[in-house]
Amino acid sequence: MLQNLHQKKVIVRVDFNVPINKEGIITDDTRIIKSLPTLENLIHQGAKIILMSHLGRPLKELNEDGTINRSKFSLEVVAKRLSQLVSTPVYFSKDCGGKDTLDIVSNLRSGEIVLLENTRFTKDEEKGNPQWAESLAKLGEFYINDAFGAAHREHATTATIARFFDLQHKGFGLLMDAELTNANKILNHPKRPFTAIVGGAKVSDKIALLENLVDHCDHIIIGGGMAYTFFAAQSFKIGKSLCENDKLDLAKSILEKAKNKKVQIHLPIDSLCASKFENSSTIVTTEGIDIPDDLMGLDIGPKSIQSFKQVILQSKTIVWNGPMGVFEMNNFENGTKQIALCIAEATQTNNTFSLIGGGDSVAAINKFKLTEKVSFVSTGGGAMLELLEGKILPGVEAIIN
Ligand code: AMP
Repeated sequence: MLQNLHQKKVIVRVDFNVPINKEGIITDDTRIIKSLPTLENLIHQGAKIILMSHLGRPLKELNEDGTINRSKFSLEVVAKRLSQLVSTPVYFSKDCGGKDTLDIVSNLRSGEIVLLENTRFTKDEEKGNPQWAESLAKLGEFYINDAFGAAHREHATTATIARFFDLQHKGFGLLMDAELTNANKILNHPKRPFTAIVGGAKVSDKIALLENLVDHCDHIIIGGGMAYTFFAAQSFKIGKSLCENDKLDLAKSILEKAKNKKVQIHLPIDSLCASKFENSSTIVTTEGIDIPDDLMGLDIGPKSIQSFKQVILQSKTIVWNGPMGVFEMNNFENGTKQIALCIAEATQTNNTFSLIGGGDSVAAINKFKLTEKVSFVSTGGGAMLELLEGKILPGVEAIIN
């Protein structure tokens, strides 16, 4: 974290993309809370803090007359929430880099905060427009990126703006630093055995992830809907389960690559099935892998849970991305829940390092109230996925080069 920022104007890109309901109430302020360590540090240092963030996709959901829906996408409500969480005045600028911003920034005092209006109110943001980024860069003497959740975007305020600061005048915030440090623990010299648990709906979303993990892991556990494409590729019967028929060869090639690299792939050995994609549908547990024609697999079965648990409890490093079943439905949550509990047990009793790597596995770990029992829960779904795929994030690259 940058130091000696007393009286300095510091731009901080945060990720305040919080869910807001129809009544305009923030329903989950986790992302605001997660930015507080960086903000408290800057307040303590006496910096003049200029916050930038996006909220939703305002240009994709314009009003019927083509104007921006300001009541839905304004960050003003976030500024109000932030002001309740910090012990310093939080001003809100009605524009992002316009006259209102300039007025407020020029009167900002040491330790005070201004949050600028949604960066995505102009198409310059997503286009990464260098002129606009440069005009924003002129607002401050330093730039800090703490928006891990947006670090995989090459946008004006997440990446382009950093090019206008030299290495001594830009850096990561504490949240971004923690995300990168923990991802590095996984990807560089993990304690072994290293197990990746990958689930979720589709193989196609996880191809790059699986291909990179094969180069790093000792074990890969595959669950969720994507497992059935792997079964179909090996000519098992999968009934009406989710399957990407155009990905069968790819599934085979991932299995082959794992074999060559001596990575053990663990697929489910039984499933909880139903005839309909409904919680109320009667549950049928299969004896083995094959699923009758009229049923679909919606969760891993009890034998799979036991075999996966054995692998997890022997692991010293674990990364988890994607649920084992349709955990949103209570009747099909058990596989995901048992795996989550087992990861927590390994972390607590075996000193295993566990990283919950974004997306629905974070929702699952929250649902089962295990957040405090694992080593690290990532705040960035897409960003963490891309890091684990072995990519360099534009928001990171722009800071270090
Ligand atoms: P992803 O975003 O790719 O990690 O996928 C998460 C989604 O996969 C969740 O909404 C789950 O309900 C869904 N999912 C997990 N297992 C299955 C399954 N066996 N059949 C259908 N959907 C599933």
